[in-house]
Parts: sequence; C-alpha cells; structure tokens
Amino acid sequence: MTEQLANDSLDNDYDVVVAGGGAAGLNGALMLARSRRTVAVIDAGEPRNAPADGVHGLLGRDGMPPAELLARGRAEVRSYGGHVVSGEITGATRTEHGFTIELADGRSVRARRLLVTTGLTDELPDITGLRERWGRDVVHCPYCHGWEVRDRAIGLLATGPMAMHQVQLFRQLSDDIVFFTHDGPELTAEDGERLAARGIRVVTGKVTAVETDGEGITGLRLADGTVVARNVVAVGTRMVARAGFLGDLGLPAIAHPTGAGRYIPADPTGRTEVPGVWAAGNVTDISAQVGAAAAAGAMAGAQINADLVEEEIRAAVDARAS
Ligand SMILES: Cc1cc2nc3c(=O)[nH]c(=O)nc-3n(C[C@H](O)[C@H](O)[C@H](O)COP(=O)(O)OP(=O)(O)OC[C@H]3O[C@@H](n4cnc5c(N)ncnc54)[C@H](O)[C@@H]3O)c2cc1C
Repeated sequence: MTEQLANDSLDNDYDVVVAGGGAAGLNGALMLARSRRTVAVIDAGEPRNAPADGVHGLLGRDGMPPAELLARGRAEVRSYGGHVVSGEITGATRTEHGFTIELADGRSVRARRLLVTTGLTDELPDITGLRERWGRDVVHCPYCHGWEVRDRAIGLLATGPMAMHQVQLFRQLSDDIVFFTHDGPELTAEDGERLAARGIRVVTGKVTAVETDGEGITGLRLADGTVVARNVVAVGTRMVARAGFLGDLGLPAIAHPTGAGRYIPADPTGRTEVPGVWAAGNVTDISAQVGAAAAAGAMAGAQINADLVEEEIRAAVDARAS
C-alpha cells in the first residue's frame, strides 16, 4: 500500500482532533503526538498550494513538491502514534467533556480540544481562462513563485487596494510589467507617478479573458477586443477561511480588516474566543506561508497540550482533596 492510500482508522475519542492536514495541522499534531496526546488529523486532502510545482522560501526544503512535504509530515505524525484520516468535517458541537466532530461520510468522533487548520479558499476574478492556469502562470505571491517568473512579460490584474503594492513587488522581479486597472480602485496622480517612475505601463479597462496556446498564456483580452501580449498574470485573490463547520460553535469567519477576505480571529498562540478551540495557519492568518503556518500549528499544539495539563492538574488536585 502506498502512503497516499494509507488511512488510519478513526477511534471514538481523542485528546485533540485537528481539522485539516496541511502544514499547520500536521505540525500541530506532531507536537501533540510527541507530548503523548492522542490526536487525529482529519483531512479533506486539498491543500491551498496543491497546483504549485514546489514549495519555495522554506528553509531546508526549498522547491520540494507540496505533496511530498505533506507526505513526510503525515509519516512523522504517525511515527509518534498520531492518526491521519481522510475525511471532510461538516460540523462540530460542544459536549460536557469537549466536542463531537461530524464527518461528511456519517462518522463522528469526540475530542477534548479542537485545532482548526483548514486553510482558505482563493477566490479568483471571473475571467475566462484564468482559473485553468492558477498556480502555474497565474500567480499571486512574489515570494512563492516570483523567482520562477522573473524577467517574463507579467500583467498585474488589479482587483483591490493591494494591487499597487503587489505590482511593485513583481517589478522587483521583471522589467516588463503592465498594470491592468481592471477592477482595482481608481489610480491617483501619485499612483501614476509611482508606476511610471519604475517603468510600469498602465492599461485601463476590464480584462475579459486570458488567451493561451498549447504552451501557456499569450495575452490578456480587454472588453474592447484588444489583446495585450503577456505570458504571466499576477492577481490578488479574495481569501476566504474554510470554516463553515464552526457555525454551531458560534465561531463564524468574519471580514478581514484589510478587506482581503474572511478569517477566524485567534490570539498569537492560536486560542480563539471559543474555549477549547484553537486555530492556526491560513484559516486565521491569511498571509501565512508554509513556514509560518507550520510554526503557528506547532505553537497551537504546544498551547493545547499545556491547557490539557492544567485541566489534568485541577482534576488531580480535586481527586486528592476528596
Ligand atoms: C498557488 C499557490 C502557491 C503557493 N506557493 C507557496 C510557496 O511556494 N511557499 C510557501 O511558503 N507558501 C506557498 N503558498 C501558500 C501555502 O499554500 C499556504 O501557506 C499553506 O498551504 C497554508 O497551510 P495551512 O495548513 O494553513 O492550509 P492548507 O495547506 O490549505 O491545508 C488545509 C487542509 O485542510 C483541509 N480541509 C479544509 N476544510 C476541511 C474540512 N472541512 N475537513 C477536513 N479537512 C479540511 C484541506 O483539504 C487541506 O488539506 C502557495 C499558495 C498558493 C495558492
């Protein structure tokens, strides 16, 4: 059996259930399993960076395929007795001792604590041909794949206020940048100065389609039919936390202060406003890359272990007193 097919069976009770098995969830589970906590990672198997060839900017693992990094993480969690189970969580409710977590396939599991690391969905503008190239030559993040598209003809598709910042980061990587105003805010005179000073050409009007040939992107088509030759598109996405299943716990995703999407608020240790529920990675920090998501998962895992230790001390003191 290959690692992909290996799927631990789900017990009835765990100290901690981790919702989502990306970098954040697996690193959280690793800390918990190494602390001799019973832990199950339940994962729907769709990490955000799945379309990318490699994980970049991650010290010691730069360029490793995302699937390989996660396969290593699952093996590490399992090597300490943690369970990693395929499945989609659809609901969670509070019980006397913690939570009951429901899966789409009808299974359910109990846990004393819940760590939410389900990541986010990138919502792309509705432009013909854009989604098909997502993560290859339609990119969002200069640190993830900027180096890979350096010196190419890049078109920055403005979709919100961050476009002016994003375009200058891509300008660091290529001299050949066109700023498409598309759906972005109206440019001020100062914006125009900042773009012109760095040799960034501005094209106004709506983009309606990404033109491709067998090799990749060839241009961006405007509403008036003009095609501007480009072979990479940089675009900001609307980033929406994958957290609908937390509704019954009173923990809905809320609007992000930047206007960039929706997230689950948590403190720097991952603690949410709902006792017993922690969150880490992109579900709470929309700008976290893989390293930051893993670090936040590790922090939350350690904090949950400490919280459980405190609960156990209280129970032991009470038992001793009686
Ligand atoms: C195209 C692209 C390329 C990128 N390249 C890089 C890069 O080069 N370097 C870098 O550092 N970062 C990169 N990133 C960012 C990177 O994807 C994130 O930082 C990282 O995935 C966040 O990890 P996470 O664990 O929070 O979420 P994810 O990796 O998204 O993992 C969440 C997991 O939870 C699962 N899940 C969701 N809902 C449920 C549910 N209800 N029940 C059970 N499981 C569920 C998902 O299926 C998924 O497996 C890239 C992003 C994109 C979009």
